[in-house]
Amino acid sequence: MVLHVGSSSDSGSYRNGSQKILLVEDSRMFSAVLSHRFETELGFSVTHCSSLKALNEALANASHGFTMAVIDLNLPDAAHGEALDVAVTHRIPTIVFTASFDMATRNRIMERNVVDYVLKDSEFALDNLVSAVRRAIANRSTRVLVVDDVPSARKMLTDLLEAQQFKVTEAGTGIEALAALEEFEDIEIVVTDYNMPDMNGHELTRRIRHRYGSDWMRIIGISSSTDRLLSATFLKAGASDFIYRPFVPEELQCRIARNVETLTQLKKLRAAAASDYLTGLYNRRYFYDHGPRLVNECLRRQRPSSVAILDIDHFKKLNDTYGHEIGDQVLKAVAERLHSLFEGSNNLLSRLGGEEFAILFTEMNSRAATALCDEVRLSLASLKVHADDEELSVTVSIGVAEIVGYESFENYLNAADQFLYMAKHNGRNQVYSDSKMTEEAAE
Ligand code: GH3
Ligand code: MG
Ligand code: MG
Repeated sequence: MVLHVGSSSDSGSYRNGSQKILLVEDSRMFSAVLSHRFETELGFSVTHCSSLKALNEALANASHGFTMAVIDLNLPDAAHGEALDVAVTHRIPTIVFTASFDMATRNRIMERNVVDYVLKDSEFALDNLVSAVRRAIANRSTRVLVVDDVPSARKMLTDLLEAQQFKVTEAGTGIEALAALEEFEDIEIVVTDYNMPDMNGHELTRRIRHRYGSDWMRIIGISSSTDRLLSATFLKAGASDFIYRPFVPEELQCRIARNVETLTQLKKLRAAAASDYLTGLYNRRYFYDHGPRLVNECLRRQRPSSVAILDIDHFKKLNDTYGHEIGDQVLKAVAERLHSLFEGSNNLLSRLGGEEFAILFTEMNSRAATALCDEVRLSLASLKVHADDEELSVTVSIGVAEIVGYESFENYLNAADQFLYMAKHNGRNQVYSDSKMTEEAAE
């Protein structure tokens, strides 16, 4: 069986476009595996150098444009980390990958503000390194708010976070911090000091928590106080974590990474809970969660809105004739077409279940929504699904109801469903709505 539509869009791998990574490593085994993994798992193009000489040549040819470097400290012509200094001089964010490790080496690495270091100390070393690169790339789209009234302390944190590729915003007071949260909607992590002139860290934490739950915003308290109760009170006020100064940079780094990871997992869970497994469209749950909010927003602004239910005609017959699998392919093709028709609009599209889809039209009265739905109907009727040696097509019926006044969301959907029933009753492959009904009555 050959199918030509509904190609799965969730391939899982993500592309980094033309991003380049510099891999400086003399071990053939490590460099072969890493090159392959950076290319296939992270979508990087890899420039590999197995010596300091090769590194210098590579940088002479193209000194900029490297997103990141992974550097082995011990090379045949540079046994003491000279390659790291070269990368740092060229301002390439670097992750060190090393077998030799002691306190002096660690200090040398950390003094150079590297992104991270990974030890070749176990069978998991390669996984750890790939994770570190992946994390650094993800950090580039995560904004951290640093709140501290002492400029030098603030700068120290900012430098540390920027080295790890985070976007950083600074605030010197609690009030400034709250203003920054308003201004930068992408802040996901707040690192805040305790002692500040206008409000202390607890108060700031409580105020932030009033607006943002821990499933959206992570707060990490920080203080040089000797009061051992401070950490507990920070956590009780709603902080996600706490660290005493002076701290080991790696500890803060790990704690922030854990918090970012938690947020990433929550985002994935939310996306999975909101999406329909077969088609990837928003599911019924999301439609019922978010639809009422959009409706209320329109009502509040005295703008019109409408809701439509779309149902494939005689879908049972298609299933019975061609089988459930082909039925699924048709559903995916219809969903894909609907998605492309509504992508980027302010309308909310979802698969309610089975062969039923719902669309919430904001800023549109019944007349406008009915006209648009008729275009949707025509577009779907022209869709061709190739299955085996046949070309299948389907028609749809759509019911549209305008939303007027504050009723329950369920009521509006019931109204649309009744118009859908009439569209089916009138012979299918058509749109029916309150405005159509009014038009007909006037004729
Ligand atoms: P009508 O024109 O009146 O809408 O008739 P219909 O046959 O389309 O409607 P009916 O509700 O009788 O049948 C819907 C069919 O959709 C029955 C069910 O087996 C099928 N169906 C529901 N969910 C899925 C699915 O996820 N995949 C496939 N392949 N079929 C599904
Ligand atoms: Mg149907
Ligand atoms: Mg149905």
